[in-house]
Amino acid sequence: QDIKKSRLPSVKKLLLLVNPHSGKGKAVTLFRERVVPLLGESGINYHHIITEYQGHAQDIVKNLNLKEWDGIIIVSGDGLLYEVINGIMERPDRDEAIKTPVGILPCGSGNALSAALLMSKREPMTNIVLHCTFLMLKGRPQPMDLVVVQNATTTMYSFLSVCWGIVSDVDIESEKFRRLGPPRFTIGAATRIAKLRSYRGKLSFLKAEDYVAQEAIDFQNGTHVDECCFCGLNGAHAGNCGIKSQNSVVPISAERRHYDRHYSSSSDSNEDILPHMTRSQSEILPNGRTMDRSLSYSDHLMRVDLLEDSSDTLKMGDELPSPNSNQIELSTDEIRSTQEDGASEERHLLPPLDQPLPSNWTTIEDDFVNISAVYQSHLSTDVHSWPDHKFDEGVICLQYIPAPISRKNLISMFLDLESGLHIKHSGVIVEYVKAFRIEPITSGEIMTVDGELVPYGPIQGEILPGKARVIV
Ligand code: ADP
Ligand code: MG
Repeated sequence: QDIKKSRLPSVKKLLLLVNPHSGKGKAVTLFRERVVPLLGESGINYHHIITEYQGHAQDIVKNLNLKEWDGIIIVSGDGLLYEVINGIMERPDRDEAIKTPVGILPCGSGNALSAALLMSKREPMTNIVLHCTFLMLKGRPQPMDLVVVQNATTTMYSFLSVCWGIVSDVDIESEKFRRLGPPRFTIGAATRIAKLRSYRGKLSFLKAEDYVAQEAIDFQNGTHVDECCFCGLNGAHAGNCGIKSQNSVVPISAERRHYDRHYSSSSDSNEDILPHMTRSQSEILPNGRTMDRSLSYSDHLMRVDLLEDSSDTLKMGDELPSPNSNQIELSTDEIRSTQEDGASEERHLLPPLDQPLPSNWTTIEDDFVNISAVYQSHLSTDVHSWPDHKFDEGVICLQYIPAPISRKNLISMFLDLESGLHIKHSGVIVEYVKAFRIEPITSGEIMTVDGELVPYGPIQGEILPGKARVIV
């Protein structure tokens, strides 16, 4: 037992990097008011650094003694995680260093990875800082795909997307509305649809022949079923949520009343950071009703009860399970296998950018309204880019919109981004690929990698399955 225990990290220590510029510029306040109290209650050992300039986080992780840390947590949007991943990949020990678990607390404008984390744990997209902090404290590392991206001058490592066209235009052109927070994207999209344009270019890709796409899910009309895994109600609920259970879709209504969630000891491991905590709070909802929230943790179980209207209170049914004597050993094995899963080497499907592509690639030359290569389930909390996508499927989802497309169709497609139904639009073509190349013919300025502006021009990417580790 002593030997088993000695294999475990004795004290968890997290490095938190806070970007004061992210989102509406309120990340530091959110961190101090929402995150620090929970970290304090959890008794976790942590250190935080507020970044001082763009690229600071990248510089920090380049020289960090990673052995001192059990994880790096980004308190920002996705851009700061992009910095961290790329800083790590500049290190001489990059293949080992990139296994350092990373996490994210959503204080940015888009918060794509946070949304993906919440979706993967069937958490609601509300009060996201609170929920992501709990997930981060309770979670454990799991493999996450990266994409190695090359342009004429640079090699980058990306965890989210490469975009060219209306999506990247909206992302970058809405930067001037940053102070508005996430609504900046809605304003940006309206402006860009009004001034609709297309770009001529070549799109090439290597299909992932062995990948079987999940059956397209009709979130809008999905019905369920015996008992909703999320709220325990029987029958269909109105609205969209994309929660799946027993191979059926369980739409959860915005008017949902209660959630009763259990994370049992069998599915969590001793990587759990939180020794013990309980917390409760009341919140007045916009409709004037009260939401009481009580959360309690122990070594072996986390229970979350979110009860809208105290009168609907559910009984706390189950007893806390007693600690299982095999748990330490099982969990340690689990961690080891997680690490091994992610230990794949970089393959080289990509020829140099100025060289022709092999004959097993497909190339299309066309006018495009948009090309997005995505590899997370979300591009922001309200853009459900790839429904039901896991973190390490080893595949890129290429979604492109050839021109022409009417404004009406485009608006309808934008309105379906939140549910993920946009991929069923006739104007959107979806390919599952291992690698891609985009070669613009039309001149332009904007292209993004993980929402960050990169030099305009030919760009290509290849999936690196399970290359990084994310705390889920
Ligand atoms: P958002 O989702 O709001 O865009 P990001 O995390 O993407 O938030 O960060 C926005 C940009 O801020 C990124 O390009 C990041 O590199 C940059 N950045 C990080 N730290 C700082 C800082 N201290 N000052 C200015 N910019 C910063
Ligand atoms: Mg950003």
